[in-house]
Amino acid sequence: MIKLTLPDGSVREIEAAQSAAEIVKGIGMGLYKSACCIKVNGEVKDLRTVIDSDCSFEVCTFDSIDGKKTFWHTASHILAQAVKRLYPAAKLAIGPAIDNGFYYDFDLEKPFTPEELEKIEAEMKKIVKEGIELEKFELSPADAIAKLKEMDEPYKVELCEEHADKGEPISFYKQGEFIDLCAGPHLMTTAPVKAFKLLSCTGAYWRGSEKNKMLSRVYATAYPKAADLEADLKQREEAKLRDHNKLGRELEYFTTVDVIGQGLPVILPKGARVIQTLQRWVEDVEQKHGYLLTKTPYFAKREFFKISGHWDHYLDGMFVMGDPYDEEKECFALRPMTCPFQYQVFLNRQRSYRDLPMRLGETSTLFRKEDSGEMHGLIRVRQFTISEGHLILRPEQLEEEFADCLALAKEMLGTVGLLEDCTFRFSQWDPSNPKNKYEGTKEQWDYAQEVMGKILDDLGLEYTIGIDEAAFYGPKLDIQYKNVYGKEDTLVTIQIDMLLAQRFGMEYVDVDGTKKTPYIIHRTSLGCYERTLAYLIEKYAGAMPLWLAPEQVRIVPVADRHLDYCNELLEKLDAAGIRATIDDRAEKVGKKVRDARLEKLPVWVTVGDKEVEEGTVSVSSRREGDLGSMSKNDLIGKLLDDVAKKVR
Ligand SMILES: [Zn+2]
Ligand SMILES: [Zn+2]
Repeated sequence: MIKLTLPDGSVREIEAAQSAAEIVKGIGMGLYKSACCIKVNGEVKDLRTVIDSDCSFEVCTFDSIDGKKTFWHTASHILAQAVKRLYPAAKLAIGPAIDNGFYYDFDLEKPFTPEELEKIEAEMKKIVKEGIELEKFELSPADAIAKLKEMDEPYKVELCEEHADKGEPISFYKQGEFIDLCAGPHLMTTAPVKAFKLLSCTGAYWRGSEKNKMLSRVYATAYPKAADLEADLKQREEAKLRDHNKLGRELEYFTTVDVIGQGLPVILPKGARVIQTLQRWVEDVEQKHGYLLTKTPYFAKREFFKISGHWDHYLDGMFVMGDPYDEEKECFALRPMTCPFQYQVFLNRQRSYRDLPMRLGETSTLFRKEDSGEMHGLIRVRQFTISEGHLILRPEQLEEEFADCLALAKEMLGTVGLLEDCTFRFSQWDPSNPKNKYEGTKEQWDYAQEVMGKILDDLGLEYTIGIDEAAFYGPKLDIQYKNVYGKEDTLVTIQIDMLLAQRFGMEYVDVDGTKKTPYIIHRTSLGCYERTLAYLIEKYAGAMPLWLAPEQVRIVPVADRHLDYCNELLEKLDAAGIRATIDDRAEKVGKKVRDARLEKLPVWVTVGDKEVEEGTVSVSSRREGDLGSMSKNDLIGKLLDDVAKKVR
């Protein structure tokens, strides 16, 4: 007898080994029809899996993330099959599910046109209608490589060769005439993929590296029901209107220049003004929270990063100046983090317990070698500036200081309006990560994660757990945010580090006169300014709140004879620190007001004969509508008040 423990805790027994598909049919045909994959002891597998021992058993439908990914990944095979039918010379690269659909990379002579995408969709419809069964089979590594060579799929050969070292059998999936190297899981047949849409075809380097060939990536999404697809497509249309990568360029917050390089945006005056406003505010608030300001170098010698551990654990992510492996010659690297530089502030003289906690803050520019395929507008970039900081503490100060870091981040995200859409992730290590990613022992990690878990629970924070998302030196609390397309990234992070202080020989003399190693919190408060700007553009569809707006007031004279009066007003606004301009173009008032709206100004005022005579202005606000006429002083008073309150 084999016992299956279901998610509700109930136990289902089967006589002998059986495929998951048969077991799910036994539970109910309705469930079987909507099942996409299963989880056996927490591991995602497909319905072909034979269950032959006691386990926990969960059925995943399209409503779950794992179910969606299996569904989308199967749809990517359908896409590849259709492409191979229509373009037999196309070479297949990879076709994973992503957060909101899937893609497949093809090596083609030229990218698909929209008309070609339509033809491919039509072929996919046929494949779905045929309801082709997917069959799994396995080959030895040598046979698998021979088979893929025979199929003339060079990218698959390369992938297969990497797995071959392990000596384990290589799995393939076959649907009709189409065969793909794949680990799965997949749906049982192509039939459920009823509603899909090929969204775009863009260039993407093989393995995300510009050293490799540029492939053609087809993005797509798929659903079991047409109505769900329609809702998704509608939402994507709406998202486009808020997309910072489009809107941020149109409204001239930033631009990119090919010859400068990918992931290196040029922040234009409007964007720079928003960032400056944020930065001044963050630095002031942090000062009130007891932070000491530092200013440290942007790069350092290889030897420095060897001490910090970055050389061993993060070299791939750094821009290196010089040959990293030629020990004879001097070699530098741009900093990917500020930590080791700020530790030098602590190390500047001998420290005692009285110096702790030492809270160090820096508006810090960092450099990270992101894959070119990962780059996105202002969200994924290679150079960014962050409200970085490190707290050096006695162990008993950890909980209180962590709580203050979290309170500070919440205060800031709340003020700019992003907190309401944030989620929290407790990012932990993965002891089985093979890539030499983590420092320290299992005992040290268990302890650090236990301490952090307790702090989070004591604070009553709701969070998810992210395995293998930790920093190389410790667990993190990541505050996550989604862009308009649903892609999630970290906005703010607070990390506990019990390892790095020792590497730098950081010590303090404790109350009892003994020398001790401090703990460190690595944290940001508003995160990276470029990314925050991107999310603000998306959140407000480009219409920044008054206190952040690069141009806060537009003054619109009805005729040239009102210009002197407008200039007087401009001077007064300037003196009060309000950012204003006069629209003195020879255009009609209606056109000027329309432009102020289109440029998403928070406030605009019109000045005509009546206003000049009365000494007033006629005021309109994006947020509050038409406010009627007001004296100049009342206008300034109101604006200063709203700015001080950081009204959204
Ligand atoms: Zn697959
Ligand atoms: Zn750090």
